[in-house]
Amino acid sequence: MNIGITGNIGSGKTTICRIFETLEIPIYYADDQAKKLMVDDLNVKEQVKLVFGLSAYDDDGELDKKYLGDIVFNNPKMLTKLNYIVHPAVERHSLAWAKKQKGASYTIKEAALLIESGNYKSMDKIIVVTAPLDLRIARVMARDKVEKSDVLLRNSKQMSEEEKVALADYVIINDGNHSLVKQVQKIHQQLMTLV
Ligand code: ATP
Repeated sequence: MNIGITGNIGSGKTTICRIFETLEIPIYYADDQAKKLMVDDLNVKEQVKLVFGLSAYDDDGELDKKYLGDIVFNNPKMLTKLNYIVHPAVERHSLAWAKKQKGASYTIKEAALLIESGNYKSMDKIIVVTAPLDLRIARVMARDKVEKSDVLLRNSKQMSEEEKVALADYVIINDGNHSLVKQVQKIHQQLMTLV
């Protein structure tokens, strides 16, 4: 089984995946992999160069994140174009990765835009992590050393928590009052009955 885990910025996806890791569940961190694929996948690289120009990469072949970021950040059309290149590549790569996790009861793919990208459709079950906006803002400000307005801007580009919860098979509440370990254990037990 392939399980998707998502949630809005600062909701605690990565923190929760670390708990699943302690249960020996293999995790695919899609956002990290996307960055790697933009450098390592020649097909992705070629498409990025075609759409964004040769300056998207420096002389060493490394991605110029600032150059690309400046183009896509305030330009939804260009962001969509980038997503059209990257999301299918991540989807292919993650499904191939999942097939290789032979000994695992199930695998988890962690992706911030799992639902927005449409890639949630290839998942067997979806976990959505929720947390109050104020808490998410405070956590991301502390983690990334950024301003509140930066977090709000990033949050505004994501689908609402309510829309995501509507598609969820399981919801994890990360509001500081509910034990994450207990919630993860409960979902793990439920998933183990399905494998
Ligand atoms: P992003 O979408 O930005 O990648 P995320 O959903 O993966 O974020 P995390 O990185 O797991 O979120 O959490 C955001 C920050 O909040 C991290 O610094 C993390 O350590 C902290 N955090 C998450 N959950 C809790 C919690 N229950 N108690 C205290 N700190 C937490």
